[in-house]
Amino acid sequence: MIDRPPAPEGPGGVYVHIPFCSRRCTYCDFATVAGRDETMEPYLAALHREIAGCQVGAPQTVDTIFFGGGTPSRLSGKQISDLIQSVRNRFDVQPGTEITLESNPEDLTPETLSRIRDAGVGRLTIGVQSLDSRVLQDVGRGHDGDLALEAVRQARGAGIGQIAVDLIAGLPGEDSGRWTGTLRRLAVLKPDHFSVYLLETDKNTPLTRSMQAGTTPRPQDDDLADAWEQTTDFLESAGYSQYEISNYARSVPGEPDRVSRHNMKYWQDLPYAGFGLGAHAYYRGERRGNRSDLDGYISDLATGTDPVASQDPWHPVRRLEEALFMGLRLRDGIDSGRIGSRYGLDLQEAYRTVWESAERQGLLVRTGSRIRLTRAGRLRSNTVFGALLGHLPVE
Ligand code: SF4
Repeated sequence: MIDRPPAPEGPGGVYVHIPFCSRRCTYCDFATVAGRDETMEPYLAALHREIAGCQVGAPQTVDTIFFGGGTPSRLSGKQISDLIQSVRNRFDVQPGTEITLESNPEDLTPETLSRIRDAGVGRLTIGVQSLDSRVLQDVGRGHDGDLALEAVRQARGAGIGQIAVDLIAGLPGEDSGRWTGTLRRLAVLKPDHFSVYLLETDKNTPLTRSMQAGTTPRPQDDDLADAWEQTTDFLESAGYSQYEISNYARSVPGEPDRVSRHNMKYWQDLPYAGFGLGAHAYYRGERRGNRSDLDGYISDLATGTDPVASQDPWHPVRRLEEALFMGLRLRDGIDSGRIGSRYGLDLQEAYRTVWESAERQGLLVRTGSRIRLTRAGRLRSNTVFGALLGHLPVE
């Protein structure tokens, strides 16, 4: 295997984290804060400092910028455009760069949508999660189903290039009939993209604790699998292509599918910088994560200290395993020739028994140098990933 990180094959991305939320949803384990709006200005000052001076090894040329949270739609238009300018001051931002901003429906008034568009955002993701108002209320969302639907409708008409919708399958109280209704009512509005995540019940959240205490029913694995199948069937019949396990892009004949170009960096082993509270970055073969306590983050940057909290140095086997896991999440899977040459080994041979076993179980197909999961394999991806993990010795 190679002994130094493979060179990046194209432009990188920039992730910018905005942790502020108006309230805390019961299933959320992201690096967020609610009720700390008085720290917004010092946080943004720290963020500008970090973008200007930290992560010096990050790729200089970038073609995606992603504002995630938290709730970035709580920023003003000026705050968004100032952050984009900071990124431009530091990086060589390519023409046609995809600029994405995450939002919550309750923020998306016509005025807010205009300022988001005018600040330069070309792709807006809306955290709808469900259109069932009782389900939304139970998990602490700040909007009901009608408001979410209206937000998507308004966003469609606001002249922002692409609109994406985020959903969570398996929230307590959601049944299959109401879930189909959520998908159907949203698909009518033709968002460009759906991300549909299955509820994770192993996180340290109030919802998980309530499930452990027996107060809230825990979704069964079979029910989550059914929801995934139902979602995939419905969205594919509605003109969306499942290009990644949890992501569906609208297909328009003659046009490229409307995939998330930023998230493709994660799935294709490409580098990115990550700024802000708890943000992660990957470049030069190393992963790093920022500290996730707000006051510590701000005070680090005030004294010129890098707010890094974790560093995972270059290791060829670990990085190769990650490249395989992430790449196999894509519908088109991996090009074993490309990744093999990046990491300096014959992937077909090195993992031959893993591929053959997964093929026998109907989880994977190999066509030439391409290796991809079948639909059954995407549903049971952890079986394949578990077999890949540790297959090669890690000194
Ligand atoms: S709005 Fe999003 S980031 Fe904020 S608490 Fe809810 S799920 Fe978490």
